[in-house]
Amino acid sequence: MSYDDKNIFARILRGEIPCKKVFEDAHTLAFEDINPQAPVHVLVIPKGKYVSMTDFAEKASDAEIAALNRAVLKVVEAKGLMSSGYRVLTNAGANAHQEVPHLHLHVFGGRALGSMLVKR
Ligand code: AMP
Repeated sequence: MSYDDKNIFARILRGEIPCKKVFEDAHTLAFEDINPQAPVHVLVIPKGKYVSMTDFAEKASDAEIAALNRAVLKVVEAKGLMSSGYRVLTNAGANAHQEVPHLHLHVFGGRALGSMLVKR
């Protein structure tokens, strides 16, 4: 899938629509999810144009990859999740129900999060 510059996170990165910023550095932005699924629900995105984790892992620089991981640490620290625990999740493609075609890591916390997947 090629990158679509009109996706909502590209628009946030361009400053066309607002976000509630949690952390930012040269390569990464973290902001509150607009429809939180837990008391803490933050999205961590690279500033580069990557559709998914596989796209990112193939094409991103080592500095971008390190920055995305360290941004998760910054979010965990900022939200006080270090001792209580948290979950990091990324959706890629149709089976995972990815809605926004710009790589994003969901960081959830603030309550017991239950099992990882809905059981069928
Ligand atoms: P996914 O299904 O993994 O693609 O998740 C997309 C996430 O983006 C959802 O949790 C949405 O609530 C969130 N989202 C969509 N638009 C915005 C926005 N403008 N600001 C913050 N989060 C958003």
